[in-house]
Amino acid sequence: MFDFQHITQETDLYNLHTHTQYCDGHAPMEEFVVEAIQLGFTHLGFSPHSPISVESPCNMTREQVQDYFNEIERLRRAYGDRIHLYNSMEIDYVSVGDGPASDYFRQLPLDYRIGSVHFIPAIDNPEVMVDIDGKFPAFKARMGKYFDCDIEYVVKKFFSQMMAMVEEGGFDIVGHMDKIGFNASQYRDGIDEEPWFDKVVIDLFENIMDHGLTSEINTKAWLQHNRFYPNA
Ligand SMILES: [Zn+2]
Repeated sequence: MFDFQHITQETDLYNLHTHTQYCDGHAPMEEFVVEAIQLGFTHLGFSPHSPISVESPCNMTREQVQDYFNEIERLRRAYGDRIHLYNSMEIDYVSVGDGPASDYFRQLPLDYRIGSVHFIPAIDNPEVMVDIDGKFPAFKARMGKYFDCDIEYVVKKFFSQMMAMVEEGGFDIVGHMDKIGFNASQYRDGIDEEPWFDKVVIDLFENIMDHGLTSEINTKAWLQHNRFYPNA
């Protein structure tokens, strides 16, 4: 497993979840590196959305993986004396055997791995995997099209997918563990304050602890929506 211990000083600035031009990132990796150095970061980990078995415009393809590795090496040669650069992926858990624990991801030479859920099965067809991570208008449309407007099914399925991912393993950091809470609470105000919602979150936290994994604190939505994943 990746040794996070060498990020020890409380003053270290670091980020281990960074998307790239190989997935849905909004700038080339080099721009992130230059900016991070300017801001005084000591460590920066890249984590493009991994290759995935379902159709997704946000994920890198297997054919792009070597280019991504080559770019990390190039940036390490150019900037490695000023910042520690790490090579990771945010790997999708899709279904049993199709996620971070698969042979394909285990054999990749990654420094560490983030495991995340962005897709859950449609309510009446487990073969159809639906993206529940996008912006709210798209999420709302999919609620009717794929989930019979059953928000509790969506939330519970998201967390059961997360639980299954933790059980299967193959990764170091749990990505945005309660991400569904944002779209779900737009759909039904206050849903993430309901006791049953609390319970599935706490059960997941306990499972993460039991497996000795790390949960990221994802700050992506902080400025826009005043919310961390996991939220307070
Ligand atoms: Zn993600």
